[in-house]
Amino acid sequence: MIDKIKALEALSTQLEPTPDKRAEWNKKVQEYADRFIDGLPDAKGFVKPDQLNDWPTDYPIGEDPRELDELLAVLEREVDHWGVNPASGAHIAYIPGGGVFPTALGDYLAAVTNRYSGLLFANPGAVQLENQLIRWMCKMVGYPDGALGNLASGGSIANLIAITTARDHMGIKSRVVESAVIYLTEQVHHCVHKAVRIAGLGESIIRYVPMDRRFRMDVAALRRQVEADKAAGLKPFLVVASAGTTDTGAMDPLDAVADVAAEHNLWFHVDAAYGGFFILLDDLQPLFAGIERSDSVAIDPHKGLFLSYGLGAVLIKNVRAQYEAHYYRANYMQDAQALEDEPSPADLSPELTKHFRGLRMWMALHLFGLAPFRACLDEKRWLTRYFYEEIQKLGFEVGPYPDLSVMIYRYIPREGDPNEFNRQLMEKLHRDGRIFVSSTTIDGVFWIRLAVLSFRTHLFHIERLLTMIREQI
Ligand SMILES: *Cc1c(COP(=O)(O)O)cnc(C)c1O
Repeated sequence: MIDKIKALEALSTQLEPTPDKRAEWNKKVQEYADRFIDGLPDAKGFVKPDQLNDWPTDYPIGEDPRELDELLAVLEREVDHWGVNPASGAHIAYIPGGGVFPTALGDYLAAVTNRYSGLLFANPGAVQLENQLIRWMCKMVGYPDGALGNLASGGSIANLIAITTARDHMGIKSRVVESAVIYLTEQVHHCVHKAVRIAGLGESIIRYVPMDRRFRMDVAALRRQVEADKAAGLKPFLVVASAGTTDTGAMDPLDAVADVAAEHNLWFHVDAAYGGFFILLDDLQPLFAGIERSDSVAIDPHKGLFLSYGLGAVLIKNVRAQYEAHYYRANYMQDAQALEDEPSPADLSPELTKHFRGLRMWMALHLFGLAPFRACLDEKRWLTRYFYEEIQKLGFEVGPYPDLSVMIYRYIPREGDPNEFNRQLMEKLHRDGRIFVSSTTIDGVFWIRLAVLSFRTHLFHIERLLTMIREQI
């Protein structure tokens, strides 16, 4: 038996590379990363794949090791060449962020040390580090001490945690789901609909509150609808507003929504996944007035703090409510104890074992300090305003004046269907690919979008986009 164990050990210790091997791998990965980053200024924002490659059959998982060089070559050829390039400043579509380098450092160390950040007793430092980041964001939106939340993988899970908490705190048991009412606008992000369904609220009543001409929630209409629903014996319990919609960048009137939520005892959730960090700009703070009166906020550091993908946050004012909806221990008193010390992420989210994802954010904020983040957000806002003016000089129609850094525009040709014209223009811009933009359809109208949020997007990219558009009309 000992011989057998020794033989297995000889093979299994291959999982621990020698220091030389580690150094060699580190060097190669670092070289690859450097080449990638240094190549970004010349890289396209989008390389339209002609066809799917033959990846799955081409590269089976086998018993024997392969060379790192070979893997990196596959990565370069099959992954890092095609499609959208979210690391590039030429990505001005969807909601970009870029991926600041300290994200990689934080992730690397989190992976190497493999610290357990799910439970306080397993690593108080890791949990405190993450909770401190969450409290910093809570303070940023004006929540009182005692509020907390969770660092999630992205905005979708952040919204899910908020909606699950709202469901339980507002007493929406299965027998009342069919008469429970949720208020939102047609511009709310689709992940909210997903979260509603996943949280078991798929059969509740969704009211689409009308919007004004700037795609903001019409709060008078919200109030009338809530009153009518209450009079009809329904159970209004949740209103979801957006601080920066994905489609048009619209800011719902949060303070007025908060009034209705307070009058009618609704859980008030703000989806600020895209727009939230613009609150760091003093002169934009009035747009966020009322966010401090909400019950929960979703906000994405992998958007507005330019971190690489994999970090969204939910902020929840009543941490006890979040806890009640997510804890997993049985003994109530014991739980209360745990909450008083320092809450563990595992008690506040669906996850148990989790990536120590706070480390990347902590690294980025401390290595740079806040000033360049603020400047970067401000720059993106001004780039959007600049484009808003310049694109009109080319004869384009524009949507609402951009509050943040998303806007919509379209060309009205002298003859022919404008939707078809803009669809074709979009297609041509995608084929070009030097700058990557995306489109949306609102009330049957096809619009091209501009979403400036990659930290690498600068005036150069906006000018280039204007040139590309000029060439196509
Ligand atoms: C991006 C976005 C989401 C979804 O967040 P993910 O991080 O992609 O899961 C939700 N709401 C808004 C407003 C967004 O822009």
